[in-house]
Amino acid sequence: MRGLLSSHRREQTYPPPVPEKLTNFISGKHVPPVNGNYLDLIEPGTGLKVADVPDSAVADVNAAVAAAQAAFPAWSATPALERSRILSRIGALLEANKDKLAAAESRDTGKPISLAREVDIPRTATNFNAFAGIILNTSSDFHAFDRGGVPGAMDTEGFNYTLRKPRGVAGLIAPWNLPLYLLTWKIAPALATGNTAVCKPSEVTPTTASMLADLCNEAGLPAGVLNIVHGRGQTAGGALVTHPDVPTISFTGSTAVGRWIGKECGDRLKRVSLELGGKNPFVVFADADLDKAVTTAARAAFSNQGQICLCGSRLLLHESIADKFTADLVARAKALTPGDPSDPATRFGALTGAAHLQKVDGMVRQACELGGRVLCGGAKADPALLPARCKGGSYYLPTVIEGLDPTCAIEQEEIFGPVVTIQRFKTDDEAVKLANGTCYGLASTIFTRDLNRAHAMAARIESGLVWVNCWMVRDLRTPFGGMKQSGVGREGGQDAIKFFTEPKNVCIGL
Ligand code: NAD
Repeated sequence: MRGLLSSHRREQTYPPPVPEKLTNFISGKHVPPVNGNYLDLIEPGTGLKVADVPDSAVADVNAAVAAAQAAFPAWSATPALERSRILSRIGALLEANKDKLAAAESRDTGKPISLAREVDIPRTATNFNAFAGIILNTSSDFHAFDRGGVPGAMDTEGFNYTLRKPRGVAGLIAPWNLPLYLLTWKIAPALATGNTAVCKPSEVTPTTASMLADLCNEAGLPAGVLNIVHGRGQTAGGALVTHPDVPTISFTGSTAVGRWIGKECGDRLKRVSLELGGKNPFVVFADADLDKAVTTAARAAFSNQGQICLCGSRLLLHESIADKFTADLVARAKALTPGDPSDPATRFGALTGAAHLQKVDGMVRQACELGGRVLCGGAKADPALLPARCKGGSYYLPTVIEGLDPTCAIEQEEIFGPVVTIQRFKTDDEAVKLANGTCYGLASTIFTRDLNRAHAMAARIESGLVWVNCWMVRDLRTPFGGMKQSGVGREGGQDAIKFFTEPKNVCIGL
């Protein structure tokens, strides 16, 4: 079968001129779905169909898992140095193919091509490069004990060491907002540690995963180590989650789906990592660098049209600076005009699709009914102001809302769109109460020049990630993940290495 980046198609640009038929990737080959069924892939920026996506079912997942199982003995026995070299080659190929990958990612998601080129695709390469290094710098634990030093071992001295072995086939499931960025964030540590994988990308953003498959072949990744099954969540994704030969599931997506996956994995005693939704507070104190804070707050609210799990969607402002800060934020929001995602000058693109646009608009309507004041946006973009090819696309204006009760549904539920709400506080205690006042706990941001206050707030806010005077700065060696309803487990660095390996303690008596 053809490969999306194979030599005879190297000149192709994205979007392709005619709807493309995507394929699954099993045992190093592109293959059609067994049932012959396909889903329409709609470009959010235009509303037009651009490709057919396999609507895979149990048979495809079974074939992919069988391929991954067959590849496991050799891949897990491959020296870490060789696995690391292959990962580095994949990283280099991702960098070399950045423009084509960015064009495809922008087409599938509606995100500005500049964002895909500057953030999404470079990060996919960094994911592979980082774990190519981390796996070579991973040591195992060693605990020595003296005679009489350990209860029950009065007459023995010796030591323990911990072996870490790959667990087998990993099932990796990713969402649509950062498609290849988040999928490779799972693939790289899974493969670095010697596991093989079956991936289920989002059915609405499948293209770059198929392109990655070709790069893996080009990099010399053995057939079957990485397999990709496209399709809907409940069918293809559900079959992967419940497959008896997949002991490890790593999922990023919504809290509702994560809850179901957690339950299914619990029933089968599978190891599971869940990276879920957020409703992240962005707290600004009166002593902050307010220019930097408002620029960062606008980025945190509206990057990727507000469709990043880490977006600062609840702005908490000290009352003494709230009026001016709000006016400055609204000015920045109004300056962000929706444009054609494929235009390099565009900084604000389309939402991921018509249904999601309706959901976001519905929540803004509900905010108005609950007494919220819409300070800007609050509506779909006027098609007359969009380029001709974008008139059928899913565009929503950057929206700022204030005046809501902090306990109302709009302040509590994830909107996952370009909508930020504003609350005011008087004291640090009040800021903490507001920040912690939802069921989520993924990320938080604090702007202050007071070091003591920054440390105190960081310790008190219930979130897995805290940014002080910055936002979305990521060091891939650090633990990444949420608390409360934002997830279970951590990704990144040694947390990912531990997740994808099975520890075995060996005790040596001397
Ligand atoms: P989603 O939960 O609908 O889908 C995510 C993935 O799971 C998709 O590939 C989907 O096909 C699959 N899926 C759906 N139902 C499934 C099932 N029953 N079994 C197995 N797989 C299934 O999420 P989405 O709409 O694609 O993404 C948006 C959500 O993801 C938001 O809630 C956002 O906050 C969250 N997210 C979280 C993080 C994080 O790191 N915490 C990062 C990005 C996005």
